[in-house]
Amino acid sequence: MPYQTINPFNNKLIKEYQTHNDRHVEQALETAHQLYKSDWAQGDIKQRLNVLHKLSDIISSRVEELAKGISIEMGKLIEQSRAEVQLTADIAKYYAENAEEFLKPVSYKSNLGEAWVEHSPIGVIMAVEPWNFPFYQLIRVLAPNLASGNSVLVKHASIVPHSAETFEKLITEAGAPKGAYTNLFISQDQVSAIIDDDRVQGVALTGSEKAGAVVASRAAGKLKKSTLELGGNDIFAVLEDADIDHAAKVGAQARVANAGQVCTAAKRFIIHEKVADEFLKKFTQHFKELKIGDPLDEKTTLGPLSSADAVNTLTKQVKEAVKHGAKVLVGGEPVSNNPGNFFEATVLTGITRDNPAYFEEFFGPVAQVYVVKNDEELVKLANDSHYGLGGALFTRDLTRARKLASKIETGMIYVNSLTNTAPELPFGGVKRSGFGRELSDLGIKEFVNQKLVVLAEKS
Ligand code: NAP
Repeated sequence: MPYQTINPFNNKLIKEYQTHNDRHVEQALETAHQLYKSDWAQGDIKQRLNVLHKLSDIISSRVEELAKGISIEMGKLIEQSRAEVQLTADIAKYYAENAEEFLKPVSYKSNLGEAWVEHSPIGVIMAVEPWNFPFYQLIRVLAPNLASGNSVLVKHASIVPHSAETFEKLITEAGAPKGAYTNLFISQDQVSAIIDDDRVQGVALTGSEKAGAVVASRAAGKLKKSTLELGGNDIFAVLEDADIDHAAKVGAQARVANAGQVCTAAKRFIIHEKVADEFLKKFTQHFKELKIGDPLDEKTTLGPLSSADAVNTLTKQVKEAVKHGAKVLVGGEPVSNNPGNFFEATVLTGITRDNPAYFEEFFGPVAQVYVVKNDEELVKLANDSHYGLGGALFTRDLTRARKLASKIETGMIYVNSLTNTAPELPFGGVKRSGFGRELSDLGIKEFVNQKLVVLAEKS
């Protein structure tokens, strides 16, 4: 795939980037490896945390400029790009402030002597990342690994090379030594060769199931640890006692934010039959009011999809769903007479289990709505999914919410809020949504050696 920035609002090519050859990759690997062996990685954590503090300050001071770059490159509404950039700064700050505590030795009581587990870096980590949050996805890997002393090589998605290059520059500007973070414009075969290399000790991928399976099996073949943050088909459940105005408004936002291209976007709306008509009416009204336009225009409320391919895939999925009996309540088509990659905000009902849409992730502004009679049906439907990433429940009955939350097979569940993210909260899924966690104290433990040391009493 060529590394190109194409503005999804008008499909104009802005810039094509030169790819990196194998010699460049070898140099990057060796520099990263030597850095891991050096005092930078093996010595005092404070020198690395200073870089994260500085990085956070630099990013916070340049929100507007960085946000604009994201919106032009992948179509995110400018307000959402600003939020992404600020969150990126917050994650850097969070690890700058907390990593030392997370990585300090933990004592264990044992009859064998004084025992503790210390946390040390393991080497070079290969990260493969997607375009939908071009900065946030990178900092989730960079911040904990820079803090722990691992060097990071990154293959970002080929449609966001400007963001990839900008992020690398920010890290250099923050004072990180060469090799701490290296952006590579490389092919999938080159990623495989890097994974095979003995200097690489871990692999982190965020993306589709298909890419996850290829990359994780390659890592497993070389007996290397991997973490996978993959797709989702998250529920947004509305119980009969919920505040329907609020649920409909938040639900619409949870489906169309980032033009629906969020792994934890609300994708399956599961509504109690007593409030289904009211919810649907209000929910579809929000969809009808969305304003398609330039992501840089503050008045736009639905931006373009990231690429022309994304529109084609979504169009095929919706057509197939309808062919198998789904009904289109609103939307259903790509936006015609427009040079950009727009797809109408769409609500589908009547999806049965034999409809391929039932198990598919729709990566765009397409909501599936299901109606259930009771909590038992809700849980059954929620868990009848290959995915298990996030989910949301809306109800005033918090005892009922706690019970339901425990029964739903996902890595994350939110009550009376859309599925969200914060530096201090673990992020990740179960089933085909992947394994491992990013962010929080859990994220920083994924790629460290949790080394046991025991001092026996007699020498
Ligand atoms: P994708 O096609 O899997 O791409 C993700 C990254 O993997 C890109 O850098 C891509 O490179 C690379 N890649 C693809 N196939 C590869 C292979 N065989 N070997 C090495 N690298 C490979 O995913 P996408 O469609 O762009 O992203 C959307 C998916 O990501 C959705 O399913 C979404 O739910 C998921 N996602 C999950 C999370 C999470 O945290 N769980 C967050 C965001 C997105 P190229 O660009 O060069 O193809």
